[in-house]
Amino acid sequence: MPQQIRTTFSLHYTGGTLDRATEKRGDTDWIAERLTHSSSLIAPVWRNRNLIHHHDEPTAVLTVGNDAQKFLELAEDIVLLGIEQENGNTIFAADLSHHDDEAIAPLTNGASFLDLREIGPMMSREEANLLAFARGVMFWHRRQKYCGICGHPTESRNAGHMRQCTNPECGREHYPRTDPAVIMLVTRDTPNGEVCLLAHKAAMPEGWFSVLAGYVDPGESLEEAVAREVKEETGVIVSDVQYRASQPWPFPCSLMLGFRARAISEEITCDDVEIAEAYWFSRDDLKHFPEKGYQLSRPDSIARCLIDEWLNEGD
Ligand SMILES: [Zn+2]
Repeated sequence: MPQQIRTTFSLHYTGGTLDRATEKRGDTDWIAERLTHSSSLIAPVWRNRNLIHHHDEPTAVLTVGNDAQKFLELAEDIVLLGIEQENGNTIFAADLSHHDDEAIAPLTNGASFLDLREIGPMMSREEANLLAFARGVMFWHRRQKYCGICGHPTESRNAGHMRQCTNPECGREHYPRTDPAVIMLVTRDTPNGEVCLLAHKAAMPEGWFSVLAGYVDPGESLEEAVAREVKEETGVIVSDVQYRASQPWPFPCSLMLGFRARAISEEITCDDVEIAEAYWFSRDDLKHFPEKGYQLSRPDSIARCLIDEWLNEGD
């Protein structure tokens, strides 16, 4: 059974205790029995949105019994998410994206399909982790309706964890994809203490600053991706790249891999495409950010954890 894993940070969208039950995915009899079982729970997904009760603290809606069956009857894809450790209940995700909102509105019972990216920070880590799984895997299903090799339709297999091409001459198996992205806090020693490199991306709200990030190229190690992205975006050269932690970021399908890197050059030259501004900031600068109208990354992000870890080292 899965245990809570000790990690560097307590990151949002991690920390779930669901048994993903990979050994059950091919057991079609067991899956069929669980889908009709009165205790089984359904997490509905609609067009990248999860069903959520939005009260003071938003909570995930996991339907059961007759309500669950209604969602299953309407679902285009169904995925086994896993088994709850404490009670043995099975949880499935059901995708209703092919229905318009009028068709699903009668089923929501006062809850709403909401964007986890917006509301996730207000939810418990456990529930945010579960909904992130449901949203991420359903995004992949909608992207993999057709075979990338021959163009024929694909069909869901292995309780929703594989899609297979229906062309008998092809039959290619397709598995859920996650895009690795590196995200890194770059620091530099100065005679007055350490400083860190933060950037304002053109796409960010005014006054926001965050660490650098970018996608990993094919044939590139994570450490090489860190060094390349920092150089491309700011012209700064780094060495001593150290892994810190990772965070699922299914918005829509990334895995953020967090690093610290030490700069061996000082001059900043922004790429002027993604990065509008970038500066070296001291810990004292960051502590006075709000007074200057500046803001750091959102609190549920690994970006913020990397910054906060560095800030706390100076205390
Ligand atoms: Zn094919």
